Amino acid sequence: MATLRFSALQMAQNRPSINVLPPSNKISDYFGMNVFSMDTMKRTLPSETYKKLKYCIEKGEKIDALLADQIAATMKEWALLKGATHFTHWFQPLTGLTAEKHDTFFEGAFDGSATGIEKFKGTALIQQEPDASSFPSGGLRATFEARGYTAWDPTSPAFVMDLGVGTTLCIPTIFVSYTGEPLDYKTPLLKSSHAVDMAATAVMQEYFDSEVTKVFPTLGPEQEYFLVDRALYYARPDLIMSGRSLFGHAPARGQQLEDHYFGSIPPRVQNYMVDFEIELLKLGLPVKTRHNEVAPSQFEVAPTFEEVSLAVDHNSLMMDVMEKVAERHNFKVLFHEKPFAGINGSGKHNNWSLSTNNGRNLLGPSSKPKDNLIFLTFFVNVVKAVHDHADLLRASIATSGNEHRLGANEAPPAIMSCFLGSTMSSVLDELENNGKLKVDKGENMYMKLGISKIPPILLDNTDRNRTSPFAFTGNKFEFRAVGGSANCAGPMTVLNTVVADTLIQFKKDVDTELKKEPKKEIAIVNVLREYVKASKKIRFEGNGYSDEWVKEAAKRGLSNVKTSPEALDFYLTKKSVKLFVDHGVHTEKELHARHEIMLETYVKKIQIESRVMYDLAICEIIPAALLYQSQLITNVKGLKDIGIDAKYAKTTTDIIKDIAEHVSVVKEKCEAMLEERKIANDMEDTKAKALHYCHKVKVAYFDIIRYHVDKLEQLVSDEYWPLPKYRELLFVR
Ligand code: ADP
Ligand code: MG
Repeated sequence: MATLRFSALQMAQNRPSINVLPPSNKISDYFGMNVFSMDTMKRTLPSETYKKLKYCIEKGEKIDALLADQIAATMKEWALLKGATHFTHWFQPLTGLTAEKHDTFFEGAFDGSATGIEKFKGTALIQQEPDASSFPSGGLRATFEARGYTAWDPTSPAFVMDLGVGTTLCIPTIFVSYTGEPLDYKTPLLKSSHAVDMAATAVMQEYFDSEVTKVFPTLGPEQEYFLVDRALYYARPDLIMSGRSLFGHAPARGQQLEDHYFGSIPPRVQNYMVDFEIELLKLGLPVKTRHNEVAPSQFEVAPTFEEVSLAVDHNSLMMDVMEKVAERHNFKVLFHEKPFAGINGSGKHNNWSLSTNNGRNLLGPSSKPKDNLIFLTFFVNVVKAVHDHADLLRASIATSGNEHRLGANEAPPAIMSCFLGSTMSSVLDELENNGKLKVDKGENMYMKLGISKIPPILLDNTDRNRTSPFAFTGNKFEFRAVGGSANCAGPMTVLNTVVADTLIQFKKDVDTELKKEPKKEIAIVNVLREYVKASKKIRFEGNGYSDEWVKEAAKRGLSNVKTSPEALDFYLTKKSVKLFVDHGVHTEKELHARHEIMLETYVKKIQIESRVMYDLAICEIIPAALLYQSQLITNVKGLKDIGIDAKYAKTTTDIIKDIAEHVSVVKEKCEAMLEERKIANDMEDTKAKALHYCHKVKVAYFDIIRYHVDKLEQLVSDEYWPLPKYRELLFVR
């Protein structure tokens, strides 16, 4: 009998909603209270020390030993007051998760006496050496040199984490190998931010505003997620092992009534949301919106945007906190891109823009025509960058999980395109068609250039296209194709870098144009016009999920690469290598290593899914089906014994046959899939292995096995079915 499923269901049904009260009704009373922020440092550090640190952060200079000791001493005092007993360097290795290794502040005496002292030296603040041999390095770190080191990134503030057991001071760090190659997401992201800063600042200074000394990319990631009851989760080995359900027949009611989106949030869920938001606010994470998403049991949380590397840290921290707080409410959070077949998946829309040190959003339209030339410049350059590097952007979101959101049978096609909205489309069309004008000075000039026609407010919510992978949404671009479980750093590194590259070229082109056309504004518009023409094919305003688009995109020559192993190749094209090397973001060696890691991760994920599928099918599904079948056989024999007409037994024998048929296909396909896995596992070449896993394991067997298992779910008595069903998983109370 399916005892685990039923006891889990009983538990799930009797969960109380845990009421949560915020520490204060005013968020500002507790916002950032667990962060060793610049403000805290200003208050607690000697003023000379603070000034030196601030200088180092702004100029990106090295923090010397003396300074580090002073900061460490103050940081320790602050953390001890918060109840911290341990400290850890907190980083984001290429596993995609966050990593931490806790050390206690306490040091006992050497003589065995029961004395000791809480210590924290500058060296421990600045650098730690986790035994890095088990983190992925793509061969960058030879096995004999197991060490990597983490180094404090003072641009991301330290914080105290008091969730779960104990209280720990967390110090955000980068993670590099002993030979200096980055082994994390953050290092290249910081380099790419620097690249786009240099390029955008140069454009601003030269043509628009000499007071701009720094431009930083901003990111506001909208995080979608599913919640399932903890007990039901633990009755689904597929959710535990792979984060998604590998089997499960569609429930009678899915999302067709469209009654969940923005609907009222169930109290148990709302309490959970309030709870994790409080924890995040204490950690200085500006969470802003919460609502139901399209699918049942799907929700979304979004913070206010921040500088990109801080936003990336915060998104990783947020996922971690959400998982920890979920325990208190007996939930499990699923960030997987497609936890349930037939129902919407989860993305992480990366809202991205560029901001100047003097507070200008470079992608924000304005009521002043002159300012709108700035807006138009950056807007057109981003569109051009997406056009020129669409394939690389596609590669940046290629994971096994995201394959279910891109290019698979129920998912939209994996074509990169850019949605601008009707207003900006007509502005660009006009710009393209207005020819080379000879215009005079002042407002009149902008009018003739078509620039005065940009309405100041484009934040029109009706002009939205949910089907576009990359959309302009009023004052920022939204990279919507990023997967729910992704670390945003990968796609953001690519976006920063391609925009940096385009802006550098833009400046060269304008400088060339200025030799023929001395009027700066006209020269700029002339170059923009050429960019608009050149990047036309990437613009698409229609339904990105339709078959017509697939045909149209093919006509336009846009790529539609469906699988991850193939898409990842774009990281290694000559063009990509040159791009990353030119801007100092990745070395060629490092790119190959990262590519290898991404393929390995892909292989492992599919391998795990395939193994779980096999285990569940052979050890749970088939036995349950056979058990029920035996009961039916007994029933048929019984009917015969008591002399019931054979025609009545036929109903039962039909079910027996159906079960036998499905069981035999499941068994046969599982064994065949196992053979393919063996072939793949023997392959030396990671790319070949990934392709084999993709096509010969996943594509060849996952759907067919699932189909027959899901048929069995509809045949076998509910009493015998071992796995919680979709209707049970998806409707949390
Ligand atoms: P919508 O996507 O419906 O417009 P919001 O306006 O709330 O919703 O924005 C979604 C996300 O975009 C939020 O995280 C928000 O902070 C972020 N965002 C807004 N402006 C910018 C910007 N200039 N740069 C980066 N992100 C931004
Ligand atoms: Mg949005």
